[in-house]
Amino acid sequence: MRPAWSILPDEWKPILTEKGLRAFRADQILQSLYRDYIDDWDLATTLPKDFREALKSEFPITKTELVDVSESADGTKKLLLKYTDGEAVETVLIPATGRFTQCISTQVGCAMGCAFCASGSRGVVRSLTADEIVAEYMAGRKFGEITNIVVMGMGEPFANYDEVMRALKLINAGKGPNLGARHITISTCGVVPGFEKLAAEGIQFELSVSLHAPNDELRNELMPVNKRWPLDVLLPTCAAYTEKTKRIITFEYTVIAGVNDSRACAEELARQVKRVPMAKVNLIPLSPVDHRPDFKTPDEKTLLMFLDVLMKNRIQTMLRRSRGKDANAACGQLRLRNLKRTTIS
Ligand code: SAH
Repeated sequence: MRPAWSILPDEWKPILTEKGLRAFRADQILQSLYRDYIDDWDLATTLPKDFREALKSEFPITKTELVDVSESADGTKKLLLKYTDGEAVETVLIPATGRFTQCISTQVGCAMGCAFCASGSRGVVRSLTADEIVAEYMAGRKFGEITNIVVMGMGEPFANYDEVMRALKLINAGKGPNLGARHITISTCGVVPGFEKLAAEGIQFELSVSLHAPNDELRNELMPVNKRWPLDVLLPTCAAYTEKTKRIITFEYTVIAGVNDSRACAEELARQVKRVPMAKVNLIPLSPVDHRPDFKTPDEKTLLMFLDVLMKNRIQTMLRRSRGKDANAACGQLRLRNLKRTTIS
């Protein structure tokens, strides 16, 4: 048994043959799955009934339940999706002019334990399989055509590399949903082995790296992953990645008041980023999280100072505005709040 949404379009013919099923049906299957976007084989009415029954037992379509949708004033929608084992993840839909971006999760919870992140505050429950990740996309596209995907939801994609890559390859496939590779961004906290694997794929996915601190002392405090792969390992890895792929890396820097927002931090960040030939920086003001009431969003003046230092150092920098604040903002919060609700009731 293999979930239908874990099979890449080119794999259908050989897999059908292997199961003693008619390989010429592959095209009809692909049309049902990725043109009609069925989520139940009974809806694939172009296929004969007995064949549909065989598909049902051999290649089930992954079921999810939409347990919560919270919408914020800016139009951002946060969906809470539950899998059949009862575990749930968040996926967020972010409308912007000419774009409809989906932020997807790759794990239930996260093992990385970054201090400011809600997803990791209770550890990891399990990784998602490729079909479960595709199921998030399928749930999202019911709200409109997805133009971009960011892998910035719950979980560390490079800690679940194979399943994440299979899901993204499927979503990218020409005979699948056909979402362009350059419209898909993977974000990692710096799990070094993933960089080389990704470079070797030869697919033009975009890569973001969560940095959040300009030196090991501070980064060790905020991101335990830094103890395993410190900056002197991570930054040369990033440099090698950009050299090999000729693709830019975007460094994410969540700005936390009084923690990593000083002028000295900005100067040091500029020096570190210059170690990577093709790099830019996204500054993200912290979204407050329940488990760290001491972490606060910096004021506007500080953010602009930080931005200014980087720009003066000729670092291409963007100051991001948080979206969906009133929709249970930061990553992982909707799931946590739901867990709490369940615990209380
Ligand atoms: N594990 C991956 C992807 C998930 S997090 C990674 O670390 O990159 C996606 C981005 O949101 C990361 O840059 C992460 O550091 C950031 N983030 C997490 N919690 C945040 C918060 N409370 N406020 C602002 N950004 C946050």
